[in-house]
Amino acid sequence: MPTETFEFQVEARQLLQLMIHSVYSNKDVFLRELVSNASDALDKLRLEKLRDDALDTDVSDPHIEIDVDKEARTLTVRDNGIGMSYDEVGRLIGTIANSGTAGFLKELREAEDEKGAEGLIGQFGVGFYSGFMVADEMTLVTRRAGESKGTRWSSRGEATYTLETVEDAPQGTSVTLHLKPADPENQLHDYTSPWKIREIVKRYSDFITWPIRMVPETADGDGTPEPETLNSMKALWARSRDQVTDDEYHELYKHISHDWREPLETIRLQAEGTFEYQALLFLPSHAPYDLFTRDHKRGVQLYVKRVFIMDDCEELLPPYLRFVKGVVDAADLSLNVSREILQQDRHIRMMQRRLTKKVLSTVKEIMTKDSERYATFWREFGTVLKEGLVTDSENSEAILAVASFATTHSGDEPTTLAQYVERMGDEQKDIYYITGESRQSVENSPHMEAFRDKGIEVLLLTDPVDEVWVDAVGEYQGKKLRSVTKGEIDLDAKGDEQADEEREKQAEDYAGLLGWMGERLAEDIKEVRLSTRLTVSPACVVSDAQDLTPALEQMYRAMGQ
Ligand code: ADP
Ligand code: MG
Repeated sequence: MPTETFEFQVEARQLLQLMIHSVYSNKDVFLRELVSNASDALDKLRLEKLRDDALDTDVSDPHIEIDVDKEARTLTVRDNGIGMSYDEVGRLIGTIANSGTAGFLKELREAEDEKGAEGLIGQFGVGFYSGFMVADEMTLVTRRAGESKGTRWSSRGEATYTLETVEDAPQGTSVTLHLKPADPENQLHDYTSPWKIREIVKRYSDFITWPIRMVPETADGDGTPEPETLNSMKALWARSRDQVTDDEYHELYKHISHDWREPLETIRLQAEGTFEYQALLFLPSHAPYDLFTRDHKRGVQLYVKRVFIMDDCEELLPPYLRFVKGVVDAADLSLNVSREILQQDRHIRMMQRRLTKKVLSTVKEIMTKDSERYATFWREFGTVLKEGLVTDSENSEAILAVASFATTHSGDEPTTLAQYVERMGDEQKDIYYITGESRQSVENSPHMEAFRDKGIEVLLLTDPVDEVWVDAVGEYQGKKLRSVTKGEIDLDAKGDEQADEEREKQAEDYAGLLGWMGERLAEDIKEVRLSTRLTVSPACVVSDAQDLTPALEQMYRAMGQ
């Protein structure tokens, strides 16, 4: 087959432009990205071989190799992992499939200045393309395990790339960067220096479970030099806490999550006894773009005795904690464990319960110790966490304890339910809330008039999930959660005789009018009654306490129910 030339997708081209003009200041991370991909490829090969013993491939010495050639100014990262087919190269390398990246590019276009762009690019993994920060040409040669022919991909990072079939490629992938001309001003960025490579690997990729080797350049006539292994391969979760630095934890987080930012929190858990496991979990500092789409991948990897078993292990945490990343290493599972087995395993269920409680108690800790970090957490993940109020009654108390809500009590400062209850006057029995689409629309609702008038605090709930959880939860510390738009609400203190009398008289006076209105509107409403909830507006529509709210009604109708 001849060499074919293809154009990059628009999005890919934009990313490449960014890489070439490198708004990102820390260029060293390109090597972390290439090593991370190589490590993933070795994980995948091991799994595929486990599933299909007949797969024609050599898995005797899985490893990653880094070669530098000072003369030619090239750097090569090679792995003997799963490799890619011709089609896969086109699909995985030539396009940007990741929806998060597409969202990132949109934000990037909106960020006008360089500084904005640099901040943003630091937030998104750009993986393979980051090679173009340091290279003016990249070539990738790969052969998929089990296939006979290989593929060569090459690009100068401009509008196009080429693909061709090659007859004799070794299995796995090698990525060769043709480095940009050396900067005599800045020796720190000499990626042909073995010292530099050693340092970067140690810093970013030490925990990678496969050996990363480097063959030093031949010193004159000394025979073939021994390759040197650059990483310790020590699983961070198996080392004692005081032997691991925060930076090391953070690098593991970046490898697992493909996020370039620091995590918000690192959580460790060691379970001993009949079912032993170690967990190292991370709370990210930002919600990914696809958190609410179906193809969002969970971020917890399952290991068995240091051996990688699977990505996105859904059984380890409930769906409402799907943003948590990390590793769980179980000692007593079979290496062949499948999703089906996991779904039925009693130990896995116990593990899920324990990990869930640990995550929630960590959030609680953050809340007590560091209100700013808590605010970040809740802003990013509060909406997801509230799903747990509907689906996980066992933990709903723990979730409510870390939940906060917008309120009429204060401007932008959210409140917890505990704080709300503390502020309640003696005569107030219930916790009031209003649901709606936006803060502005709920604040302008006529239902709010009397509450504002009487100075009664109302929670302003504007996430769609709010309507569902308030019903599921029902009450907090014995206080009912009540919608200000539902049912009869009597805000006047009971036992106020004068008010009672006055109301009776009003009811008599208006009986005729109410009856007449009720008849005229019989088709549309259940009842017309006098209300104390309004101060300015003459009338408002109220639903029964048990009725669906308008927004929910709309949602169900849209679903065809
Ligand atoms: P990410 O790793 O976040 O998916 P990358 O841009 O780093 O994004 O890589 C894109 C895809 O290309 C990977 O998901 C993988 O499928 C494929 N790929 C990259 N490098 C390798 C490699 N060394 N071996 C096999 N596949 C690879
Ligand atoms: Mg990658």
